[in-house]
Amino acid sequence: MTAPARTVLVVNSGSSSLKCQLIDPDSGASLADGTVERIGEDAALAGVTVGEREARRDGPAIADHEAALRTAFDLLDEAGASLDAVNLVAVGHRAVHGGSSFYAPTPVTEELIAKMRELAPLAPLHNPPSVLGMEVARKILPDLPHIAVFDTGFFHDLPAAAATYAIDRNTAQKWHIRRYGFHGTSHQYVSEQAAAFLDVPLESLNQIVLHLGNGASASAIAGGRPVDTSMGLTPLEGLVMGTRPGDIDAGVILYLARTAGLSVDEIDELLNRRSGVFGLGGEIDFRELHERIESGDATARLAYDVYIYRLRKYVGAYLAVLGNTDVIVFTAGVGENDAKVRRDALSGLAGLGVELDEHLNASPGKTARRISAEGSPTTVLVIPTNEELAIARDCMAVLERGIERREIG
Ligand code: ADP
Repeated sequence: MTAPARTVLVVNSGSSSLKCQLIDPDSGASLADGTVERIGEDAALAGVTVGEREARRDGPAIADHEAALRTAFDLLDEAGASLDAVNLVAVGHRAVHGGSSFYAPTPVTEELIAKMRELAPLAPLHNPPSVLGMEVARKILPDLPHIAVFDTGFFHDLPAAAATYAIDRNTAQKWHIRRYGFHGTSHQYVSEQAAAFLDVPLESLNQIVLHLGNGASASAIAGGRPVDTSMGLTPLEGLVMGTRPGDIDAGVILYLARTAGLSVDEIDELLNRRSGVFGLGGEIDFRELHERIESGDATARLAYDVYIYRLRKYVGAYLAVLGNTDVIVFTAGVGENDAKVRRDALSGLAGLGVELDEHLNASPGKTARRISAEGSPTTVLVIPTNEELAIARDCMAVLERGIERREIG
């Protein structure tokens, strides 16, 4: 492997998994891709791919995130992408919630880590593991700059009408309660890629981006600037997701607490881990959900119908928010791969200017592609997201600004 001039290690740390990638920020190429799953369980799964080469260590338990990262680095060595040999210049960390203090890409400091810990109740699935990832990576690679790239950054300047909850404004101000939005790295990257794919300036496009993975969110983007997004103070709001309900009457929470006697932690667990498609259908993976629907399973059917219905409502809402929509983009695991979801989300919208080409939609692909019918006023695209590359590039921008500042100073 010929090493690029510079490489960024991007770490995305989850509660029981850790993903890392080595990215050349200049060419955009991914040199190596590693995943460690089932951290803390009896048998872990760990694998790294470097081009055609794969190194795996499945079976032995991996006790914690530090052991997971060390295992990933050992596997990188084995697969021929040793960290010493790739001109590593920075470590980028996917960070979810930094509240109102941290949103732009920022060097990881004790202060930043403390803030993310403090905000853990707002992103219980994401902030604690993300902090763990930062701590162990800084411990193992202390001499490199570590940079946190926040999911909220892209949405920081949402118009006030979209960012504000209609609750008592003093309470909202005191507790920094606003709509922050998440998956921003993906929405920004994908909307830029859509303009590049169509070979038109980003500023000329009104877009709806549908990021449909385990977490799911929609955004309305006018000329490259987000004007609304479906997630709010926390990543619970908006679309129906793998294990989260999305929009729900706040009264349900009061009722569960007062009448059903659930504790705050129990409600938290219900909303973050036992709701959404999983809560309704006992299934998180759409491939299996479709199989069950085909075999006549009514529970799976309802879970799917609720998911699609909410998605259609957001598409309709954002068509109205934008007034005139040039592009709708599908991205992430479900959005990139599930033709049925795309079809059902947009069927019958010809009157609103959105028409899919059934054949193009049903043809699988791994690259950016158009799936709308010739002549559909709104172009529909599938664009693979690449949050790691976006994070790597944000890291380089931080480092380059630091160098400029030193030079000017
Ligand atoms: P996240 O990053 O939020 O964990 P992803 O974007 O990786 O999620 O999406 C994961 C989900 O994508 C899976 O749970 C599964 O439902 C869905 N998915 C992945 N591949 C396919 C496929 N070929 N067909 C349908 N759904 C798929």
